[in-house]
Amino acid sequence: MSRLVPPHGGGTLKPLLVPEAERAAGLKRAAGLRKVPMTSRETSDLVMLAMGAYTPLDGFMGEADWRGACGEMRLSSGLFWPIPITLSATKELADSIGVEEEVALVDAESGEIMGIMLVTEKYVIDRDFECSHIYRTTDPKHPGVQKVMEQGAVNLGGRVSALSEGAYPKQYKGLYLRPAETRALFAEKGWSRVAAFQTRNPMHRSHEYLAKIAVEVCDGVLIHQVLGKLKPGDIPAEVRVRAIDALVENYFVPGTAIQAGYPIEMRYAGPREALLHALFRQNFGCSDLVIGRDHAGVGSYYGPFDAQHIFDTLWDGALETKALKIDITFFCNKCDGMATARTCPHGEEHRLNISGTKLREMFAKREKVPTQFSRPEVLEVLQAYYDTLK
Ligand SMILES: [Zn+2]
Repeated sequence: MSRLVPPHGGGTLKPLLVPEAERAAGLKRAAGLRKVPMTSRETSDLVMLAMGAYTPLDGFMGEADWRGACGEMRLSSGLFWPIPITLSATKELADSIGVEEEVALVDAESGEIMGIMLVTEKYVIDRDFECSHIYRTTDPKHPGVQKVMEQGAVNLGGRVSALSEGAYPKQYKGLYLRPAETRALFAEKGWSRVAAFQTRNPMHRSHEYLAKIAVEVCDGVLIHQVLGKLKPGDIPAEVRVRAIDALVENYFVPGTAIQAGYPIEMRYAGPREALLHALFRQNFGCSDLVIGRDHAGVGSYYGPFDAQHIFDTLWDGALETKALKIDITFFCNKCDGMATARTCPHGEEHRLNISGTKLREMFAKREKVPTQFSRPEVLEVLQAYYDTLK
């Protein structure tokens, strides 16, 4: 019998999307409200709230929760929460909104009304405080820090009723699965211990190896793609999905891997983001999250295993979902197989390493990428994509 981890907080899932029958009336009401534009990060957080991935939050955080999440990784209720989920507005707009006023939340990129928020707090944050805790740096070149520095001057907190999940359900039909849906799938398969494998890349053999280690020790693996915004130069989700499909079809035992996507926008906060990734995977029903090298990192802001070590600093009961910590994976020519730094005694010179930059160059020049690095079926999908960039 399937016994999945409970949603975060121990209660039931709390999707903030209003029932379909009530959405038209909600949109009509929202059209008459003052509009608050949301950045792409804020919109993606709203969709995470809508689908229930941020259970048990009931909206964008007020000041006490913001401060607690940054400084102590706790909400004012004491519940574990490692990254603030906030909405900002310009000072002019915030001044025009009264406390206890309802506002319409609008995706600034598409112009779509995404929800209604009852504004119960307006507050100004200390951006250096947030960045130094969450990103461990205030360097404006860090992409996550940059977004905090550029956001509006005033944060608005309050309960949210989501009226839309944007383009995701249609654009990623079959891939966009809500926490209630992944839980139902796991239960149907009789899975109890499920590892999430987070990816924003196509899966090469090192990623395949990580996911298969998870299959060895769990009932199955959820290959969970980031569908929200990425850095320029990253491979689009549609291409990644095709590459991963090609891998799973040809190299996984049927019924051991489920592919799904979720709408977060990466913050590249390294260790803190790894904790958030584990928290919402608990809501999706995953007991484990694969944490490899430099999870959710960018540049050289974090040590390669900082995202593993941070799990050891949590208090008992903070999180049900555990980190499945795995060392660097690679193909070793001397081992003549896939290995990790824990299992391969040979030197760096025997390991097949191709950097992302080098790989892009190889595709651009149509050079043959070794099949020890990536499966031919995957390479074919990626080559076809890179050919379109010319
Ligand atoms: Zn070796």
